[in-house]
Amino acid sequence: MRAFYVSDVAVFDGARVRRRRGVLVEGDRIAWEGPHARAPREAAAARAVDGHGRTLTPGLIDCHVHLCFAGEADFAGEAAALTPAFGAIKGTVNARKHLEHGVTTVRDLGGVGILDLAGAIEEGRVPGPRVVAAGRALTITGGHGHNIGIGREVDGADAIRTAVREEIRAGARAIKVVATGGVLTPGIDATFTAFTPEELGAAVDEAHAWGRGVAAHAIGAEGILQAVLAGVDSIEHGMQTTTAIAREMAARGTFRGPTLSAMIGIVEHQGSVPAYAVEKALSLTDDARASHTRALRAGVRHVCSTDAGTPYNPHGNGPNELIAMVEWGMSPLEAMVSATANGAELLRVPDIGRVAPGASADLVLYDADPTEDIEALRSPSIVWKAGSRVRG
Ligand SMILES: [Zn+2]
Repeated sequence: MRAFYVSDVAVFDGARVRRRRGVLVEGDRIAWEGPHARAPREAAAARAVDGHGRTLTPGLIDCHVHLCFAGEADFAGEAAALTPAFGAIKGTVNARKHLEHGVTTVRDLGGVGILDLAGAIEEGRVPGPRVVAAGRALTITGGHGHNIGIGREVDGADAIRTAVREEIRAGARAIKVVATGGVLTPGIDATFTAFTPEELGAAVDEAHAWGRGVAAHAIGAEGILQAVLAGVDSIEHGMQTTTAIAREMAARGTFRGPTLSAMIGIVEHQGSVPAYAVEKALSLTDDARASHTRALRAGVRHVCSTDAGTPYNPHGNGPNELIAMVEWGMSPLEAMVSATANGAELLRVPDIGRVAPGASADLVLYDADPTEDIEALRSPSIVWKAGSRVRG
């Protein structure tokens, strides 16, 4: 069996860092992890990887991407040209970029052709990270995303149950609901409350019955609160998270993916991104910052959610999202927990997001320790997915 041993390395295991460790990988799994001085006999026979002075972490998990979008300035124009085949082709190109940046798992929260791509990657036909795909995003008639192929218009609790079942039948491993308006759809306020509590409840009830987690796109306070109370698993964007909502999320264990990269990509490219999107993003910047602070203070658990594929938000942007989360007040260690253990829990993939015997060997080796200096994420030295080197 193919085996390698990373010697004398600092290991961030998804929760904490320990020094002078050793990690033995056999096939696609971690066979052993412990003090380097007590390495098992098998380690001597395995191919050696010198970990001295370096840090080994679980592969990063990006809980919000759109693989069929490449991050062009004109989102609507990109959307208009999408077909399922073209979406799968673009997704194939975009997927590899995540691996290059140490991201070994993504959740695709709305795409066309991506369920097929997820299957092709899983079968080893094309390289890419693990893809937990939501299929199409559920939105109200005329709601955010209704005008692009990745959205599916649906109204009423019964129709939502049917839509959830159909997306799951098509291969979805997560469900996305669009609970409010959005920045990138013209003609609808970003903070507009979309689905009714009854509709959200039906989506969550049905998805959970099938063992799928639910992500809610939610920007305005009322929509965020309704989604949280309906029992969704993650709030994406969450730009108007009040203190009361943050406390509710912390108490329930609802994850928050702040998607700072999406906002930064738009506000830093005024002039090339359509004006309606720039205007809406700018009007939410202060709210987003205050919400992030409130959520951290209330103890809300976070995940790394880039929303990659939106304007100037390229695939593989996970490290930049984590760097921004730290700039906005999170500790580097918290950011790393967000991108590993928290992501794995949210995506319901228990054998990733940690470095422990039996876990999948999705690993990244860095020359510096990202739990001390988050900038270390910019230059991964070696990336493995399921024990295979995919970079370095
Ligand atoms: Zn999105």
